This record gives sequence, C-alpha cells and structure tokens, in this order.
Amino acid sequence: MEFLAASLLELITQTSINLPPDVREAMSLAANVETPGTQSAQALDIILSNVDMAVDDEGPICQDTGMPTFFVHTPVGVNQIRLRKAIREAVAEATRRGKLRPNSVDSITGKNSGNNLGEETPVVHFEQWEEDEIELKLILKGGGCENKNIQYSVPCNLDHLGRADRNLEGVRKCILHSVWQAQGQGCAPGAVGVCIGSDRAHGYEIAKRQLLRTLDDVNPNAELAKLESEIMEAANSLGVGAMGLGGKASLIGCKIAAANRLPASFFVSVAYDCWAFRRLGVRLDADSGAITNWLYRDPARPIERMARGEGFPLTGREVILTPPLTEAQMRALKVGDVVLINGDMFTGRDNVHAYLMKNPPPVDLNGAALYHCGPVMLKQGEKWSVKAAGPTTSIREEPYQADVIQRYGVRAVIGKGGMGAKTLAALQQFGAVYLNGIGGAAQYYARTMEEVKGVHLMEFGVPEAMWHIRVKNFAAIVTMDAHGNSLHADVEKSTGESLASLQNA
Ligand code: SF4
Repeated sequence: MEFLAASLLELITQTSINLPPDVREAMSLAANVETPGTQSAQALDIILSNVDMAVDDEGPICQDTGMPTFFVHTPVGVNQIRLRKAIREAVAEATRRGKLRPNSVDSITGKNSGNNLGEETPVVHFEQWEEDEIELKLILKGGGCENKNIQYSVPCNLDHLGRADRNLEGVRKCILHSVWQAQGQGCAPGAVGVCIGSDRAHGYEIAKRQLLRTLDDVNPNAELAKLESEIMEAANSLGVGAMGLGGKASLIGCKIAAANRLPASFFVSVAYDCWAFRRLGVRLDADSGAITNWLYRDPARPIERMARGEGFPLTGREVILTPPLTEAQMRALKVGDVVLINGDMFTGRDNVHAYLMKNPPPVDLNGAALYHCGPVMLKQGEKWSVKAAGPTTSIREEPYQADVIQRYGVRAVIGKGGMGAKTLAALQQFGAVYLNGIGGAAQYYARTMEEVKGVHLMEFGVPEAMWHIRVKNFAAIVTMDAHGNSLHADVEKSTGESLASLQNA
C-alpha cells in the first residue's frame, strides 16, 4: 500500500478546503434567490468568496473541521486494522499541516490531544463489500451544526406546530421544527439528514449517513421523495435566511431514510449540517492504495469560482471601530449597522469564559472587542500565523457573557448566531454591542488578521486559548445593540409565526 498515506492525506485536505460540486451548486442557487442588498445576501456574498479563498490558500473552509468521520468499504481480505492505523496517521499529519483544527478533547481531563487523535477519535465505520476497490467517504461536520442535531420521540408537542403524531405528517412537522430551531446557530442555510424510526443511537447514525447522498439526488422511495421536496419548499418559506439574519435561503438539502422501529418507539432523528457541508470520497486500488477515482466530483468539470463580486461590497456607510471602544461609541450603534474593526481584538470561547468567572483576565479587557473564535493557528519559527478564524456559536457563552461584560468592561462581543436575554440586558445596562460575524467564513476573516500579537491561556489548547490579534477591516453586523434590540429575537419570532402557518399542510 505504498500510496495509501498520500491518498488519505489528500482526501482529508481536499475535504477540508474544497467544497463538493453539489454543495457549490446549491449555495449558488441559494445566493441567486436571495434579495439583493439584504443582510442575508451580504452574508452569502462573504460565504461564496470564502469558498474560493479556501481553495486559493489551501486552507480550511471553516476553522471548525469537526469530528473526522470516515465511512469505509473494503473488499474481503483487506486488513482493516492497518487501514485504521493509516487513517489515524493521516489525520494527525493533516492536523500538523493546519488542514484540520486540533479538535479532540479528553472528556474527563479537558485536555486537547493536539493531533485529533483520542478515544474513539477519529470515527471510522467499516463495512465489507463484494467489490475489488476500497471506498472511503469522509464528513467533516463542525460543532456548531452538530449541536443543532435533534431527535424527536413522537408523539410530541412542538413549538408553533402543535402535536406531531406517528405518521408522515408528524415527521414533516419534526423536520420543519429542526430547521427552525437551528436558526443562525447552525450556520444556515443548512442541510438535514433524517432517519424515521430505528432506535435512538442507530437512528442518529442513519440520519448522518443521509448526508452522504448528493444534494441533487432523488429519493428512490416515492413517498420520501415527495416529503423531501415538500420540506425544501416549506423550510425555505420560513425566513430564517443565511446565518439566521432573516431571508429566503434557509435549507439547501433534505435527505430522508426510513428504518424499522420497535412498536413502542417512534424516533425522528435529524443530523443538521451547515452550509460548509464538507463531504468527499475516493476509491482506492486495494493493492497500492492509490486513488483511482474521486467521488462527488465530476472530473470533466473544473472547480468553478463562486464569488459574485468582491465578497463584502463596502458602501462607505460602515462604522469604523478602533478598540479600545467607548460606551458612547457603542450606544451610537444600532441593529443593522455594519462595522469594520481595525486594531486589536482578543479571542475567547468556552474555557476562557469559564476561567474569567474565577480569575482576572490575563489582558486588559476594558473597551475590548472579544471574539468568540477557536482559530486554526500554525507556528512557523517563533511566529504564529492564522490559518482559519471564523466565529463560533455564541449562545454557549450565555451563562457567562453578562458577567464578563460587567466585570471587565468588554464593549463588543463578536460571534455568530446571537445571544440570549441575559446578555441583551447587560449590553443595554453597560453600553456594549453584539456583532454577528459570518459563520464558517474562516478564510475571509483570516485575511483580515494582520498579526498575532500574543497568546494567553495556551494550556487550554489552540482553539480555546486567548489569542491577541491585530485586524484590519474585520466586517460584522450589529445584531444586538445597547438599546434592547435583538435581530435574533426578531427573526426567531417572525419565523415562529411562519412555522405556525405551516401547521397543517
Ligand atoms: S460553518 Fe458554522 S456550523 Fe459549520 S462548522 Fe463552521 S462554524 Fe460550525
């Protein structure tokens, strides 16, 4: 298997940096139907540029490269123990090269292994088959969308939709609810893989396997094909929009499977994937390990550029913010304003926020811009460089954020998906704002980062450390202001009303 290591590394690299053609197509369609000039359209413009940048820079499309999950078919006689070992080595090498973020954390000690290896990581599903070649498919699905997976045990009562019964109508309600509940936190427009039936554990696995289908295929089961197409139409009428900013593009794919169930159970399991839908595959020669064929790609079709313009067309009305920021500057901002940050910012996510509850910050956060981000960083000589750095889901910091703002004087919190009522009240009381970045736009934001000035709390590992970064023209939208307004709360309310109108198909 002289070519196996190189083939596996190439599969991981291409999956991380190069969105598959069916997802590109779906995202182009989503961008084309969006109303020009809206925040959702702006977000889609950045997303499309980011897809091009990832290919150009050979960097991760999104900084969260997820739990590497392999689906492998082997001919009888192939040594799966050796193949698993080779997969692990390739994952560690891809991490060392900055194509995967070190994402594997010991659930007991909290320590990041640094190489994406650990108990049950990466995930490898093996199956034998009668063919001569090895087939490997890989999904990289990040934590933001993984956290929005959801499982329903029907009959159940759903927000805005009422009772879901044990029939296809009940299933339809569950799937629509799953899209609605993801809002911007799952980096919409997303795609859902669904399993009707099975048990709790296998149902989730079958749901995730539906994400291996291409977005443009047609379900061979006529009833499920009809349901998939109904869901696509209904979900895209909800108004969630890209990044939950309100708009037309909410869902780029719905793939449903049915499995037998126990008489007592009826689960609907949903695997929600974000727009950064990274899934590729290869076929390998079983003797040499060389790639004989790429899956999901049409070799006759070159990689097409996605960007429609310059990414984030500036209007001249953007508000320039240069930290340290003042209360008066923050109170002058309102929901919908676009800001460009120049100067210093600090990253901080789950571990940093928990740390700040018990310890003073290692830097002065008075007037600071605090970025919810777990970047991909590479150390080259003595200097760190940013390889990918989009925002992470902010709602995880909801239990801490108000205290951090009050205690340390943070003026701007940057993330994605919005925050809750407690943070909104703190923004109003202390004069601060929440800025929504474009989730998954890791290359776009990495290009705004001119210098890594330092790093603190490195014991938490690369994604969780507090990075001190100098940025230029870091663009974000004010979605929660110091006057009690929240675009996220407004969109959740209006989309909830739309959901209610779909109660009876
Ligand atoms: S695009 Fe958003 S949800 Fe998807 S992996 Fe990146 S940060 Fe997570």
